[in-house]
Amino acid sequence: MKIAIFGAGVAGLSAAIELVDRGHTIEIYEKRKILGGKVSVWKDSDGDSIESGLHIVFGGYEQLQQYLKRVGAEDNYQWKEHALIYAEPDGKQSFFKKAKLPSPWAEIVGGLQTDFLTMWDKISLIRGLFPALAGNEEYFRSQDHMTYSEWHRLRGASEHSLQKLWRAIALAMNFIEPNVISARPMITIFKYFGTNYAATKFAFFRKNPGDSMIEPMRQYIQSKGGRIFVDAKLNRFELNSDESIKHAVLHDGHTIEADAYISALPVHNLKKIVPVQWLTHKYFRNLHEFVGSPVANCQLWFDRKITDTDNLMFSQGTIFATFADVSITCPEDFQNTMGTANGGSVMSLVLAPAHQLMNMPQEVITELVMKEIHERFPKSRQATLLKSTIVKIPQSVYKAVPDVDQFRPDQISPVKNFFLAGDYTYQRYLASMEGAALSGKLVAEKLLSRLGG
Ligand SMILES: Cc1cc2nc3c(=O)[nH]c(=O)nc-3n(C[C@H](O)[C@H](O)[C@H](O)COP(=O)(O)OP(=O)(O)OC[C@H]3O[C@@H](n4cnc5c(N)ncnc54)[C@H](O)[C@@H]3O)c2cc1C
Repeated sequence: MKIAIFGAGVAGLSAAIELVDRGHTIEIYEKRKILGGKVSVWKDSDGDSIESGLHIVFGGYEQLQQYLKRVGAEDNYQWKEHALIYAEPDGKQSFFKKAKLPSPWAEIVGGLQTDFLTMWDKISLIRGLFPALAGNEEYFRSQDHMTYSEWHRLRGASEHSLQKLWRAIALAMNFIEPNVISARPMITIFKYFGTNYAATKFAFFRKNPGDSMIEPMRQYIQSKGGRIFVDAKLNRFELNSDESIKHAVLHDGHTIEADAYISALPVHNLKKIVPVQWLTHKYFRNLHEFVGSPVANCQLWFDRKITDTDNLMFSQGTIFATFADVSITCPEDFQNTMGTANGGSVMSLVLAPAHQLMNMPQEVITELVMKEIHERFPKSRQATLLKSTIVKIPQSVYKAVPDVDQFRPDQISPVKNFFLAGDYTYQRYLASMEGAALSGKLVAEKLLSRLGG
């Protein structure tokens, strides 16, 4: 079969890997000049890598890791110490380290040793979070009607632990506050966190997600005969009388005919190109239930090291939710003489919640970030900021608010030659690289089982 895939994020590329491996003719059409979507990285005029966002691979990302292995990139990421590290004022750090015991003892003993939670926090968490640890998918689904804050309070878990521990996790996962995010994804994470020792360890890409993951995926697809077109924005579909796609039309008027068409577009872009005839199907109308989370990524180059932490960091009550010194975590990029880097720290910070930042000038955002960097990293007060960049994504991953999960579409659409991939489509993960990779695998399998081949 000839299959056209629109969108070259992790979802589109994963679908392509599956389909080229089964001998199909694949053409990928990507709107931008670079591949990777929300994982894309590009070089600016100084030769610095600019990331759409700081990206972490979790131990539980089985599908993504399988693709990384398949494309020969299994050594392109590096595991870090198994700990949650919170940056506190004046350079202090607090830790949640798992004990070297089987789960759930690793988490219980590790949690009891944590210094930033009070004894009451710990007791209330062990008691309150038990239904999440013991729960199954059906239980998690049944809790989707309330926010995580509501669930947490209902379970009698302490307010301090909500602000101190879980707020950072909600912001890291979906860029929204615990009083906005649904209970469902949060308690699903507790289950992983509390029952699978290896699932929650973090890895960083040795260079950056673009060079270490997207580029090997591109090379693999092309080596198997797949064709990739950039600057090739899907504009609309022309339909047959039975609502199936006759051909796709790009922004430059170019038409594409294929046996099957996969959208791997973000949901807000897909909504714009769904033909009105298809809106008679609830399946397509439901796409309008999704709203993207705004987020921004800030990178700061310093003339000296302001931290020596080789891991992801969280902080509470700051404009940045998760961050890392990528000159330490990523040993093959951001190093001395690479672009602006001179051996000093290169901080990559995910700014969330970011709705207030979307219309703010870069200088103002940088000033806000720097004020808090000085507060958390005292060594930065003597350092010179060599350069700063901000990437804003007004609609990134869909907001996992209460009751939205039920609207996540299956990869098979009611239109016989049209299929969906993307992190928002139905698979067991929240919007993430793993969710996108899983959607790519599922779309390929479902397409082949519907059309044969
Ligand atoms: C700041 C930030 C940090 C993150 N951190 C992590 C993390 O640590 N770990 C993790 O697992 N996940 C993380 N994520 C989430 C992860 O990046 C996404 O869930 C995942 O990359 C989404 O992949 P996708 O292929 O579904 O969509 P996208 O990456 O959005 O890809 C869609 C592609 O479609 C293209 N496109 C759009 N419209 C058109 C059109 N009309 N025609 C052709 N092409 C089009 C886009 O340009 C894009 O390339 C983060 C996201 C952000 C924004």
